[in-house]
Amino acid sequence: MFMSYPGYLTDNFEPFNPLEVSKEGEKIFCRGNSRKYTKFYCTGVYGGISTGYTIGCNLRCVFCWVEWSRDFPKEYGEYFTPEEVAENLIENAKTKKVSKVRISGGEPTISKEHLFGVLRRLKNTNLLFILETNGILFGDDEKYVKKLGDYENIHVRVSLKAGSPEGFQKRTGADGEFYQLPFAAISNLMKNRISFHTACMSDSRLMPRDERRSIIKKLDSIGYSDFFEEETCDPYKTTVMRLEKAGYRKFFKY
Ligand code: SF4
Repeated sequence: MFMSYPGYLTDNFEPFNPLEVSKEGEKIFCRGNSRKYTKFYCTGVYGGISTGYTIGCNLRCVFCWVEWSRDFPKEYGEYFTPEEVAENLIENAKTKKVSKVRISGGEPTISKEHLFGVLRRLKNTNLLFILETNGILFGDDEKYVKKLGDYENIHVRVSLKAGSPEGFQKRTGADGEFYQLPFAAISNLMKNRISFHTACMSDSRLMPRDERRSIIKKLDSIGYSDFFEEETCDPYKTTVMRLEKAGYRKFFKY
């Protein structure tokens, strides 16, 4: 199994272990408790949110829209301490008069110390931290999820990528044996009473309807019946290129 930090998927990719990729990635885009970011800005999603754009992920979704920094983290960004990140998030939120903040552009749960450092500095503000995650590390480590309970101003959004080992491997590059981890994350979040909801890239051009049905059944069996946010694959430049590189020729018909 491929154990270094992989780039975008090609049509003959080698499946990887996303837990190992998290560790490999940390060596590249984290230094002490600092992590690489490329920019800080506000955007209109969630009714307005102050955003830190970080680098690096433990999946390689073929529909991913984030910049090439996901695939080539050595070449992008600068290191920011948790203090600097929190300062930028708060400052931009004040300027644009928004009440939510997030870390986007990569998987924020990689580099635990950095994430908790940011959360600590946001704790006594009235800002809501939206933690967008693919659920891999929260599924692997319940203690990590439990620690989120120290922070009241947090809401987690778990984005599911697949409902079968085959679909998971095909669309994320991670070995199918890990496809259960995001569902385990949902169980862990429920068990620890953390505010969260689920999202899913269930676009029918990517996910067979049977697989979508099995996700809904699975959520039901876990006891989750709350908001299920379904996503559509949009033709961002990076998405179009990633799909083509992975062998989805002419996915978007113009
Ligand atoms: S879509 Fe999200 S989980 Fe998938 S590769 Fe992109 S940043 Fe990572």
